[in-house]
Amino acid sequence: MKKTLVLATALALGTSSLAYAQSYPTKPITMIVPFSAGGPTDTVTRLVARAMSEELGQQIVVENVGGAGGTLGAARVAQAENDGYTLLLHHIGMATTAVLYRELPYNALEDFEYVGLVTEVPMVFVSRPDLELETMEDLVEWAKEEGEGALYANAGIGAASHLCGLMFMNAIDTQLTTIPYQGTGPALTDLMGGQVDVMCDQTTNTTQQIRDGSIKGFAVTVPERLDNLPDLPTMAESGLDGFEVSIWHGIYAPAGTDSEIISKLSEALQTALEDETVIERFADLGTVPSPQEDATAEALRAKVESEIDVWRPIIEEAGVYAN
Ligand code: ASP
Repeated sequence: MKKTLVLATALALGTSSLAYAQSYPTKPITMIVPFSAGGPTDTVTRLVARAMSEELGQQIVVENVGGAGGTLGAARVAQAENDGYTLLLHHIGMATTAVLYRELPYNALEDFEYVGLVTEVPMVFVSRPDLELETMEDLVEWAKEEGEGALYANAGIGAASHLCGLMFMNAIDTQLTTIPYQGTGPALTDLMGGQVDVMCDQTTNTTQQIRDGSIKGFAVTVPERLDNLPDLPTMAESGLDGFEVSIWHGIYAPAGTDSEIISKLSEALQTALEDETVIERFADLGTVPSPQEDATAEALRAKVESEIDVWRPIIEEAGVYAN
């Protein structure tokens, strides 16, 4: 009798969770960006969220929870209800913070379900507009001379801008003073205003500003020059061999989110990545949507796992930890 009751309850629960997943989403979804508004991750999120919400038939509200290199926003999602209504769009920091922080209030591999990869964006070294330097070689020389007198803006330990700065300082064997922000949106505003000297950020935040002269661009962190910033050399062309990093972005949900819901989200992401406006805007920003086969839970999990393995020895060798 007792067993029958348990079975009946299980069946009822199973049916209702299936029905729940089938009717999902029935109300607006929150997508957390773990950096400030106006920065690269925010830009990518808003474009993709609009296209996904059209597909899902529900609004996706973007919420910025910046701070601590993206770990505050990620923690918020790890601890949220796993009902499919709180999602995270994060970048490479999902993997690098897993190594850079000895203690985090979440585990990148255990506390999330993975929806899929969104895009992979090049970075570019930039400076305030009135810094009187022309080439990346000039910038290296200037940074070596200035040392801690040079102000390098970033979005906190574990952010892409932090990582790129770390690689730069290691490459030229010189420590600069880092000025952390909650995202590179506000950092860029200060760079344009001359309050900080240099930064390395995704092209999503810098392409237009380099073109209109409100900041200076020096070199890109990918192996080939970019079509929409053709005058900028690569880091390797500028004498910084092997200096390569590009910033992948992915979507996550709290661990335990129903697999049917995750599949719906992955499908909506795949449709969003074929949206004409997304493709066009991404192209303007120097990037392309991830291929369909990468907009899946499996591909994103494989990416996070492999990137933790890539960055662990680099970070361990540099000996820099956030805590
Ligand atoms: N681009 C930033 C970074 O340094 C984060 C952001 O604001 O999107 O990781």
